[in-house]
Amino acid sequence: MNRRLPVYLLIDCSESMIGGGIESVRQGLSTMVSKLRIDPHALDSVFLSVITFDSAARVAVPLTGLVDFQEPKLITKPGTALGQALKLLSQQIEKEVQKTSHQTKGDYRPLVLLLTDGQPLDDWKAPLAKLGKDIRPRPANIYAIGCGEDVDFSILQSITDIVLRMENMGPESFAKLFVWLTASVSSASQGVGESVEGKFNLEKLPDNIEEVKAKAAPLSDGPPRQVFLRARCATKKFPYLMRYRFDPVFGCYQPTKSHRLSEEEMQGSGEFAMPDIASNLLNGAPPCPWCETPGAGNCGNCGTIFCASANDHSDVTCPGCATVLKSGPQGESVSFGVRQSGG
Ligand SMILES: [Zn+2]
Ligand SMILES: [Zn+2]
Repeated sequence: MNRRLPVYLLIDCSESMIGGGIESVRQGLSTMVSKLRIDPHALDSVFLSVITFDSAARVAVPLTGLVDFQEPKLITKPGTALGQALKLLSQQIEKEVQKTSHQTKGDYRPLVLLLTDGQPLDDWKAPLAKLGKDIRPRPANIYAIGCGEDVDFSILQSITDIVLRMENMGPESFAKLFVWLTASVSSASQGVGESVEGKFNLEKLPDNIEEVKAKAAPLSDGPPRQVFLRARCATKKFPYLMRYRFDPVFGCYQPTKSHRLSEEEMQGSGEFAMPDIASNLLNGAPPCPWCETPGAGNCGNCGTIFCASANDHSDVTCPGCATVLKSGPQGESVSFGVRQSGG
């Protein structure tokens, strides 16, 4: 049997990945697996695992050969528990990767591809004691890929030497990323790129990805760059996510977009509550993605946020607790004091 090349994909499934991001990752992963399956070297040696993280980290797929690999369902949730993901990764490597001994040549050093688009919201420093870049011998080759505009690259640089930036999070950008990942895994599986240090030389980067070589400054501990609020459509009752971005000029959060959610994505949303953002920092609401109503309010009875137009003074039934509320700006029960979650 050939030496195995363990490949661990650590995928950030926080709320900021919702919409295009997570769907592009799903498609990219699917294409990657089907391409590697028709590559004889890869088919022989590549073993793939997927670890996802939101408010917690979990093994979505344990280390599995390409033939048996089944794509995981990727669900977005609040939170960015990078520390937990790193801890889980080192446990899995310990458990799944065969070490080289006097008698046997074990697996190749695992290739870890960490994909994240935000700032970690948990303690990520402690798990680095086992995985950090200064540890010798290195337990794994970690490539950290920061996507979007809100990445704290200084944290990624403390995890690994190889930090990449992909600012555009559109589907084409992710497609290029996965073509590159596939080519890199494929060439690594031939063992040709392995240097004395056990480091792989990955393929040339596509034009949408650059290596972050200069030391990045830590993002300030100021207000979170983005906040997310969960709401329900008042007419259809379906859940959705409202996305806000901090506007430093006005010192408030501007609504940027809303995304339809599944009930599964809506559940457990209270697990990772962050400190409250004063409601007056939220400048309005994005339109409901189900019925286009341009605004939101919340129920004084159960706290559910729902789509509501400030100009519509008709009564509204709360989609959370079915209380009939007087809507509109004069409404007694509808206000916009809400909790938010980070991601
Ligand atoms: Zn609606
Ligand atoms: Zn209610």
